[in-house]
Amino acid sequence: MTTMSYIDAPSSNFDARNGPPDMIVLHYTGMPTGEEALTRLRDPQAKVSSHYLVEEDGRVFRLVAEERRAWHAGLSFWKGERDVNGVSIGVEIVNPGHEFGYRAFPQAQIEAVIALLADIRTRWSVEDARIVGHSDVAPDRKEDPGELFPWKQLAQAGHGLWVEPPAAPGAPLGEGEESAGVFALQAGFTRLGYDCAPSGVYDAHTAAVVRAFQRHWRQERVDGIADGETRARLIALLRAAS
Ligand SMILES: [Zn+2]
Repeated sequence: MTTMSYIDAPSSNFDARNGPPDMIVLHYTGMPTGEEALTRLRDPQAKVSSHYLVEEDGRVFRLVAEERRAWHAGLSFWKGERDVNGVSIGVEIVNPGHEFGYRAFPQAQIEAVIALLADIRTRWSVEDARIVGHSDVAPDRKEDPGELFPWKQLAQAGHGLWVEPPAAPGAPLGEGEESAGVFALQAGFTRLGYDCAPSGVYDAHTAAVVRAFQRHWRQERVDGIADGETRARLIALLRAAS
């Protein structure tokens, strides 16, 4: 059992929650340096924040108390909840992101994230199926923490869901398609938590949901096309989550 040590860096960008948090949303900072991200998350003008920021060297900054509602997720949705900030704890993980030179997350940083999740989960009841990325809750707007984030390593450490079902052939579904198969795919995403009301039409939003799913659970292929492997992983995850 490791004892977490936090560096206090309070942000005033928060308001009140209506209940205890039961979800964790992981982000990357998406700015050139961690220092700039920390400054922005504490700037009253920016009106954004997170509960924690994890530096590449493993230092963990505490910005907002877990009991308060930090402003990290914006317009979001998971499992019917639109006030994701109201029910979640937000963790910003320093990485320049796709805009400024996306790169691998150092081991020291990931170990700190794992220790932080373990610590948070001693205080609040958070199911594995409710540990997600920003892109999962806002697939049309966000790409973080992205396809280089080691979700598998997190799950092996006991945090979040991960599945590796046997190879699954099958014709890929893609944008423009209209079928019962597309309806079933959308129903599956909805059951997992995504905002993806079944219509049977594979529209641009469905493709964005598929890309978000792939960034998290099928990282070798982020193309918005639901190939057999993507669909097999979705089905296996639904089993793992229930
Ligand atoms: Zn984010």
